[in-house]
Amino acid sequence: MTATVIDGKAFAAKVRGQVADHVARLKEEHGITPGLAVVLVGEDPASQVYVRSKGKMTVEVGMNSFEHKMDADTSEEALLKVIQDLNNDPSVHGILVQLPLPDHLDSDLVINSIDPAKDVDGFHISNVGLLGTGQKSMVPCTPLGCLMMLRDHHGSLSGMNAVVIGRSNIVGKPMAQLLLNDSCTVTIAHSRTKDLPGVVKQADIVVAAVGRPEMVPGDWIKPGATVIDVGINRIDAGLKEDGSPKTRLVGDAHYDSCAAVAGAITPVPGGVGPMTIACLLANTVTACSRANGLKEPEGLTA
Ligand code: NDP
Repeated sequence: MTATVIDGKAFAAKVRGQVADHVARLKEEHGITPGLAVVLVGEDPASQVYVRSKGKMTVEVGMNSFEHKMDADTSEEALLKVIQDLNNDPSVHGILVQLPLPDHLDSDLVINSIDPAKDVDGFHISNVGLLGTGQKSMVPCTPLGCLMMLRDHHGSLSGMNAVVIGRSNIVGKPMAQLLLNDSCTVTIAHSRTKDLPGVVKQADIVVAAVGRPEMVPGDWIKPGATVIDVGINRIDAGLKEDGSPKTRLVGDAHYDSCAAVAGAITPVPGGVGPMTIACLLANTVTACSRANGLKEPEGLTA
């Protein structure tokens, strides 16, 4: 079997189009422009790239983008004051604090100081609890993107066996919760799981969120299963013509061997990655609609 490739880049463009349509309606019919504020502390190069591209895409869908860049030695008090001001600002509907924060700042304290209704990353403890009890919440962007692709590919997920490899708070756990809420039978695997190949082999849906390059080979995959590869790993890829080192991105699944067995698979790059920012924009327009007591955009929430 050769797997259907789930094109996350195209899907993300479609989601951004839906967000843009909803933003246009909010502006025309209600005079409201959704706003997303991103707070970046320090100068981590990868974080700077993420923040720039989030800002660019926010503007492209017609929303306001607010960027707050703070020095690496910013005090907790100063950061909490910025968040408080954003919580109180009616033109800001979504607040994202770019992680990781410098070591001297308490990430949990900072995240939990965001108004849960504006917590578009879905990491606030209230949103975690709401998701865990199947109530309306803000859902973490990466697992939300995975869920959207799975629903699009399968329709109903009810009764399917899902194995999520990885139990982080930002991907593995919320992913498992979303799949459970969609009536999958869910197993969460992690570094202490016994017989991981045997566990994965039972799955109709495998979500790999481990951070280990090409760890999941095709012979772990049940024929016809769907593989959602969240991993983003940069590995050596020999040398360029000028002799300098070359790298490439790979996922947590070994793409070629998995694609030979699976029914469907997300590539890396071009799978889950592009969906993450699209879902951040979706969460912002959802937060804005909720804040104004208006109908939420259809198909953009869990
Ligand atoms: P974490 O490092 O927080 O979690 C990794 C998880 O994998 C842990 O639960 C760990 O288990 C488990 N694990 C590690 N080694 C093994 C193993 N040998 N067998 C089984 N399980 C194992 O990572 P994240 O969840 O933050 O990210 C996972 C991957 O997803 C990374 O590659 C990251 O770059 C990528 N990512 C991609 C995003 C996107 O937009 N596409 C967004 C976020 C992350 P244990 O708990 O026991 O240690």
